[in-house]
Amino acid sequence: MARPTSALIHTDALRHNLAQARALAPHSRVMAVVKADGYGHGLERVARALEGADAFGVASLSDADRLRAAGLSQPIVLLSGFDEADDLPQLRRLGVETVVHHISQVEMLEQAADGDPIRCWLKVDTGMHRLGFAPEHLHEAHARLSAAASVADGIVLMNHFASSDEFDGDSPGNRQTREQQREFAAAIDGLSGARSLANSAAVLGWPDAHADWIRPGGLLYGISAVEGRNGEDFGLRPAMTLSTRLIAVNAVRKGERVGYAATWECPEDMLIGVAAIGYGDGYPRAAPSGTPVRVAGHDTQVIGRVSMDLMTIDLRGIPQAKVGDPVVLWGPELPVERIAQVSGTIGYELTCSITRRVRFVES
Ligand SMILES: *Cc1c(COP(=O)(O)O)cnc(C)c1O
Repeated sequence: MARPTSALIHTDALRHNLAQARALAPHSRVMAVVKADGYGHGLERVARALEGADAFGVASLSDADRLRAAGLSQPIVLLSGFDEADDLPQLRRLGVETVVHHISQVEMLEQAADGDPIRCWLKVDTGMHRLGFAPEHLHEAHARLSAAASVADGIVLMNHFASSDEFDGDSPGNRQTREQQREFAAAIDGLSGARSLANSAAVLGWPDAHADWIRPGGLLYGISAVEGRNGEDFGLRPAMTLSTRLIAVNAVRKGERVGYAATWECPEDMLIGVAAIGYGDGYPRAAPSGTPVRVAGHDTQVIGRVSMDLMTIDLRGIPQAKVGDPVVLWGPELPVERIAQVSGTIGYELTCSITRRVRFVES
């Protein structure tokens, strides 16, 4: 029998979340960010479900290639930009737009005059200090791109927020986002062109920053980027259910220990379920005893260490549990954000980490 571990992708939830993004930012166009294999949900599947988006954002040319091979004709933007001059013919062939964040890219574009012009998204660093031109160098970069025969008219101006998930109250992150908005406005003063600032958290919490193009990623998958809040709190629907089945139910005596390093000691005689999923499938090994999990529709908890192929589950309170019962690790009934929080990470990392042996199914 095939391993019962599967990731069910809810394409209706993807469409719902896209509609939600549009409702939140009715005057903006939407770039659906589908990098990292659609945040682990499957690139082509996600892009087809989100074909109503105005553009797709990817992190690699090979992802752009896959989208074109799947027959998608929307604009595609290479969010980290191209790396070398040899990438430019491929950008042209695939009709891909590119972020330009470094002077070396400006130079390569200036030297690549032959062929169709390429649309550029010029990125200014407003304080995240990852990618982008320093504000004082932005105008020069813009002037050189505008003069380059290889660059299409209509350069888009963009930045990226570091802390837009902190939108309530007066926290350092909140102040940083306001500062980044001011920096952006000052840096682009005198330049014309569409503007793009907002990632998911800014779509949810910073309407002033919606501008011409929003760039939601996590939001489309129903995952909240905001600490302590689930996608559902924002009217979003989770796009993935990760599930498996019980492959053993064992009675274990009080005082016995369970799993690697014997981290769980049974406080009483109890039933323990063994589920066919582990960190080899992408479930986080860091999930401690007490992490929520659902067995046959009942809430219970992970106990002991998560191992590569298996995990052990507390079946006290579910005496009828039996081999073959469904086990849900996350999904609409159990937000991935809760698993992430107790595992010291974010929902994005969990969905991105599902491994190839998990069977993907679509609904
Ligand atoms: C990944 C990414 C996004 C999307 O971020 P989310 O938090 O998932 O919405 C937007 N813009 C850029 C430049 C990105 O790299």
